[in-house]
Amino acid sequence: MPIEFKISSNKLFLLANQLLKDYKNDVDSLTLSFGNDGDISLCRGKVPYNDFIEFEHHPITELLFKREITKKIKVNTLVEKNRLRGEYIAKFSDGTPAISIKGNRIFFNFNILEAIYNELMENSVQKDVTYKKILMTKIYWAFPKVFRRQVRKAYRKRKTHLRPPPMFFIGTTANILIYLLEKMIEELTGKTRVYRPTCIISHDVDLNYCQTKGVDILFDIEKKNHVSSTWFFTPHHKDFPLNCKRVKYLFNNGFEIGVHGYTHDGLLDKISPDKRKKRLKFALKELSACKIETFGFRSPWMLRTNDLWQLIDNIGYIYDSSYPDKDTLSLTGLPGVNFNRPFHPIINVQNCWRQLNLIEFPVSYPQDVQILEDYNLEDSEAFAYWKTKIDFIKDFHGFFIWHTHPIQINSRLKLFQKTIDYLKREKFFFSSFKDESLALLKTKKEETT
Ligand SMILES: [Zn+2]
Repeated sequence: MPIEFKISSNKLFLLANQLLKDYKNDVDSLTLSFGNDGDISLCRGKVPYNDFIEFEHHPITELLFKREITKKIKVNTLVEKNRLRGEYIAKFSDGTPAISIKGNRIFFNFNILEAIYNELMENSVQKDVTYKKILMTKIYWAFPKVFRRQVRKAYRKRKTHLRPPPMFFIGTTANILIYLLEKMIEELTGKTRVYRPTCIISHDVDLNYCQTKGVDILFDIEKKNHVSSTWFFTPHHKDFPLNCKRVKYLFNNGFEIGVHGYTHDGLLDKISPDKRKKRLKFALKELSACKIETFGFRSPWMLRTNDLWQLIDNIGYIYDSSYPDKDTLSLTGLPGVNFNRPFHPIINVQNCWRQLNLIEFPVSYPQDVQILEDYNLEDSEAFAYWKTKIDFIKDFHGFFIWHTHPIQINSRLKLFQKTIDYLKREKFFFSSFKDESLALLKTKKEETT
């Protein structure tokens, strides 16, 4: 009897984890091999990396290179002490090919699993937190609301002129690598992974408007479209009190409620781990006090720290959605996880690698603030960005995690409707963080038992 073969991205991360441990033992190289029973193993050896995929009739070559945007991506792979980091399509910085395509073969001249691990786990954590940054944030919040708005406006105006056009919004690396690996496994085992393009709509409540009129407008539109969204609330926003009645109203009508920090003061990544833990814990407790069910987190300002995943996992959150796929504009200066599927993060605690139960849903950037406010794009231009991202995500079997704010999206309702229509035309399934999390936890349980 044939053995049932299952491959999930979780399994790939576990392999990457294993591989990383092996690297610590100074193994020269590792080879990925596939047993007859469909199991994957990593073998130690001294052979150079030359795994390849052969596709007789596979459209993958076309898929990779059919888009202008993929062709234009700059290759900025860095080789550090023979370890690879950064983007992997085309060439390394020294000119040698990283992924090359010859005929119907795709060659990898590096270790794919390590690359995936680097993209997801190492490139997305906290950068430097300086006293200057802390001081600036505190000064910012000391000013009255009107003044803060002017500061934001001025900052965005300046940024628009300084930054290049957002053409590198497409997170490529981990998506492509995992997709290629899956295809390779499919070729070898003859089993195909079933994929359903999925969209989760999320709104962050950052102004009082967002929880009053903002709710009413989006509520009607989403009901009319038979879609549902997740609303992230902050229990202690400096500018407005939490409106429990509205939170409950949303929840009772089938919308999901998530936590958007304890406060929204921009200090979550700048305070001590103890204080951070307290904030994350109280935020969950206080939002739940509105007599609703909530267990998801989105960091205010999308601030991330080295300990964030572990803290929210420990506290009892089931999912997080604070890591963008490809982030080039936010205040954090972090690149994002380069991936568009939910996954269980792997963390290192006292030299021991552990896969968390927590599920990370990478946010599909750009978000509305960036393209509608920072760049002030016309509806058609903004739609083009979201469409490109949606197409990319569909091709590489991802989730479109749509990040919007009622204050932004309500001023562009035609664009909102057009994007929903497009997602429906492309046969995206509209789901919720909760449903997808429960399904993934079930799969994880099945895989480990
Ligand atoms: Zn926010």
